[in-house]
Amino acid sequence: TATATTTTTSSAPAAAQKPAHITDKKFADLDISFESRRALAEVFKYQYMTAVQAETLPLILESDARDCLAKAKTGTGKTLAFMIPTIEKITKKSKRQMSDVNCLVISPTRELAQQITVETERLLTFHKDHMRKVVTCVGGTNKNRDVKALKGSTPIVVATPGRLLDHLQNGDLASRMANLDCLILDEADQLLDMGFRPDVERILRLLQPSRGTRQTLLFSATIPDQVNEIANIALRPNWNFVDTVGE
Ligand code: ADP
Ligand code: MG
Repeated sequence: TATATTTTTSSAPAAAQKPAHITDKKFADLDISFESRRALAEVFKYQYMTAVQAETLPLILESDARDCLAKAKTGTGKTLAFMIPTIEKITKKSKRQMSDVNCLVISPTRELAQQITVETERLLTFHKDHMRKVVTCVGGTNKNRDVKALKGSTPIVVATPGRLLDHLQNGDLASRMANLDCLILDEADQLLDMGFRPDVERILRLLQPSRGTRQTLLFSATIPDQVNEIANIALRPNWNFVDTVGE
């Protein structure tokens, strides 16, 4: 009967609270490290993936050789979609292979950059200490503090374009990013709408040495022409396109 379906049972509380964009695919079925799995279960307390996570994670994890352009709306869980594979790449490195910067996330605003850093640190809760350094480089903060924080092994940098370009043009960050394993452009449409296109293009030129070997992930709520143009510069030609919006 109709009334019976509204009865909640203790066996399915998660399913009863599932938001619309949550799928029936589980994080536990992904081929990822024990430490990340444990953080998802115990820190985030997530069992099921959102649509963009379920569609991009297996593809990104399957092969480093293909980049990804993903279209997904705000609030659909893009941060974990790109940070889980990023952390897996670092997990596979020895401490010795981590003298440079391994992964770079470019975000349009300070607030988003800070949110990504917090979520990344939560995901790194159970990982080894040498992996757990996340440096945030954003405008409106002390530049020397960044320079100090960036010294030595820096697995993950989360940055806004202006401050990142400043560091790439002044100092040794560009050469330390020459072997980047992973580059993420988050909210790409917003990045370009905010007038960051010249900065983003300059950054991509400075990061050109890593383009052939790094995996680049571009996430955007919409894919206007200028996002496609940036994709052509940043991504290797055989990229995977994932569309969870379908408009
Ligand atoms: P986006 O970057 O697409 O705007 P976020 O990554 O910021 O989205 O995630 C939006 C919200 O959804 C956050 O509060 C996040 O913690 C939550 N979230 C992400 N993935 C899941 C999931 N698999 N299950 C439940 N909540 C999730
Ligand atoms: Mg986001």
